[in-house]
Parts: sequence; C-alpha cells; structure tokens
Amino acid sequence: MRYGGNTPCVEVRAADDGLLILDAGTGIRALGAQLMSDGDARTAHIFLSHRHSDHVLGLSHFAPLISQTREVLICCGDGETASLQSFVDALLSPPMFPYVDGIRSRLGVCDWQHSAARQVGTSGVHRFAAQHPGEAAVLRIDDAQGPAVAYAPDNELAYADQSEATVRWRARLAAFLRGVPVLVHDATYRDEELPAHVGWGHSSSLEATRLAIECGAGMLVLFHHHPDRDDEAVERMVEESRAMAMQAGSALRVLAAWEGLALSV
Ligand SMILES: [Zn+2]
Ligand SMILES: [Zn+2]
Repeated sequence: MRYGGNTPCVEVRAADDGLLILDAGTGIRALGAQLMSDGDARTAHIFLSHRHSDHVLGLSHFAPLISQTREVLICCGDGETASLQSFVDALLSPPMFPYVDGIRSRLGVCDWQHSAARQVGTSGVHRFAAQHPGEAAVLRIDDAQGPAVAYAPDNELAYADQSEATVRWRARLAAFLRGVPVLVHDATYRDEELPAHVGWGHSSSLEATRLAIECGAGMLVLFHHHPDRDDEAVERMVEESRAMAMQAGSALRVLAAWEGLALSV
C-alpha cells in the first residue's frame, strides 16, 4: 500500500534542469501525467537498466509521448544497442499497442558503448555490468561535483559466492559506487530466501546494506520490493539494515523506496 504498486521508474532532475528517467516500468505513467500537467516540453532521456518486462511495461502509457508534446530518447544499459530500435517499435505497435500516428518520429534510441559515459547536459551517466540474467546495468549519475546517485534495481550481489571472479566483480562494483551520496539498490529478498533463488539476479536487503557500507554510500534506498511483501515486512527490513549499519559503525542512512518518494542530493 505504501511501498509498492508500480514497477521501477525513477525520475532524476539535474541541477541544470535536465530530465533523466531511469527505467520505464508502470511508474512512468504517473510521471508522464505529472510532466503533462507541468506543461514543459524538454526532451526526456530514458535510461533502461535492461529490458525485462517490469522495466519497460509503462512506456506505451507515457503521456508526453502519446500526446506528441515531447521528444523522447531511449538508451539501454544491456549492451544490445543494435536491436533497441526494433524492441521499442514492437512495444509501441500492434499487437502490443495500437498504432499511434507520429509516435516513432518523436522517439529516438541512442547508441551507448559499453565503456563510455552518456552526457545529458551537465550530467554524466555511467554504467557497470550488473549480475542479472541476460545483461543489465548499474547506472551512476555524476554532476559537476562528482557521483550524485546510483541505481541498481536488479543486481545479484551473491555474497555467499566466494569464487574469485565474483569477489573481484564485487570489488570493482564497490569502487564504481565509492562515496555515492544515494544508492538505490535491489532488495528483493531476505537473507533466508537467497538459497532458493541463486542465479535469479536479485539481492537481499542486508546484502545491499553490506555493499552500501563497503562503498561508503551516504544513503541506501531499498528498491525492487518483492510483490508479496507487505508494508510492515518492508519496514522490518529497513530496521534490520539500520541495525547492521549501526553495528558496523557506519553513518549510512537507510530507507525503503515508496511511491512518490523525493530526495534532494
Ligand atoms: Zn530484471
Ligand atoms: Zn526487475
């Protein structure tokens, strides 16, 4: 009721007023309605962490696109740029969606090379390969002062896996996230649920907390809640994470993402 309802979509407003949208889950419908009522017509830069359905389901209900008022540019962090245009075309065409005149001309896809940052005004969007079935990205947005926010909605930290490759990958990830003021991270599971979900591509809330402490994040926002988790259960997870941070002597702040949560960085 409080923490759930929509699938992933996060709006980032940069200091230069650039509009970045992270993922196009069902939450993008309400965002589109808000942008329409604000009446501005800036380009929307949508960065998809990957193309799993929960992260793209809302695109066809993004009002600025349908109402012909705004240019939309889509980048995808899964490294498969070549097929992105046909993927987006399919989402916005029969039989997935009725034909809407002119929709394709306002919607562009961008070529996003693996190592390069994507610049939107003063914001640089950096990507790091997540552990997730298929490919997915952890995104980090920097402004002129450095890292501002990182977004890792689907990422399997797999702390139980002590293989050399996984340990090295986690160290590189922690370096990528070093000192980020706000880390939005996958917290789909509880620790005791992990053994039954190895390889599913998600983390526990305490694994996310451990990473946030390791990388010196200022705030951890637990994200991608399990759809069967009720509000009280999510709040218990937040309390456990706060206790873990306190025990580690960390100043990390922890909260769980709720519908409409707004943070200033
Ligand atoms: Zn996914
Ligand atoms: Zn997901």
